[in-house]
Amino acid sequence: MIIVLKETATSDDLKKIVAAVKKYGYSAEVVKGESKTIIGAVGNQKEKQQHMNLIGQLPGVEAVVPIMQPHKLGSREFKHDDSSFAVGNTTVGGNKITVIAGPCSVESEEQIIEIAKAVKSGGATILRGGAFKPRTSPYTFQGLGEEGLKLLRKAADLVQLPIVTEVLDIKNLNLVCEYTDMIQIGARNCQNYALLKAVGKTKKPVLLKRGMSTSINEFLLCAEYLLAEGNMSVALCERGIRTFETATRNTFDINAIPVLKEKTHLPIIADPAHGTGYWQYVSPIAYASIAAGADGLAVEVHNNPEIALSDGGQSLKPKKFEIMIEKSKIIANAIGREL
Ligand code: PEP
Ligand code: MN
Repeated sequence: MIIVLKETATSDDLKKIVAAVKKYGYSAEVVKGESKTIIGAVGNQKEKQQHMNLIGQLPGVEAVVPIMQPHKLGSREFKHDDSSFAVGNTTVGGNKITVIAGPCSVESEEQIIEIAKAVKSGGATILRGGAFKPRTSPYTFQGLGEEGLKLLRKAADLVQLPIVTEVLDIKNLNLVCEYTDMIQIGARNCQNYALLKAVGKTKKPVLLKRGMSTSINEFLLCAEYLLAEGNMSVALCERGIRTFETATRNTFDINAIPVLKEKTHLPIIADPAHGTGYWQYVSPIAYASIAAGADGLAVEVHNNPEIALSDGGQSLKPKKFEIMIEKSKIIANAIGREL
């Protein structure tokens, strides 16, 4: 349910309402808007109608409205306006398009520093790089682990960009949190509910990637696991889904962008690198994503893709990245956005 407070409600009223909501067994998420404060109360109590009536009578309450969507805190019913949140020195969500760029994997100090400098000068606002890699084969490069996190942090600090990097399991969550500004939950872990709950508790910004067989409605409920733990700094990433098509690595679901934008206030990021699997298709799908309303791009950039230890075939060289961002700006401006 959503509890809408009167404009005259005092902070003492708010405290008492939150206490009542919790006493009845619901979580309480307070959102202070420009003119109104609302509380999102989520829980599965049998006596919900009775609780709604009781809460409706408390001082300071203007209205109590049920949320009809299965996804509650992420829904537009709960929050009408687009969300945005800080990640280091940048903001994800809002009018300005986020540009996440960097190699698939952190491979060495020289590699990550060179790429960090290149993506920064090409227009990136967040540096990406995997230290714990979810590889399809256990015999391929699994990432540098903590050493990779250290190198990523060093490179990011050098060029003054925040970091996003993947956490593969709960066991490494605290370690990853020590180094990163934003946690990536990869496609393979999109429906790992135990991991989602643990990451939700950290309150670090999250980039949640869509699972390769996760429907849009399931994806929204995955995000709900993070939100329900009180972590509202969540961006959703469309990165392609499994279809019968084999000409590309995945089928980038362009439809997902306007559908998600309609259903949720959370920022939507497009990853045309994993979405297509081939560097030649990355820029066209990046342009289409911005035109479709994405709030950001996530792409892989490598200084030497031919010898990259993972995903070289879908990685842009720095010059191509720079050109893609220049052209993306034209599209962003055409639809009234900044990049
Ligand atoms: C990645 O970002 O390098 C990655 C492994 O992505 P995904 O989880 O979307 O496959
Ligand atoms: Mn990759």
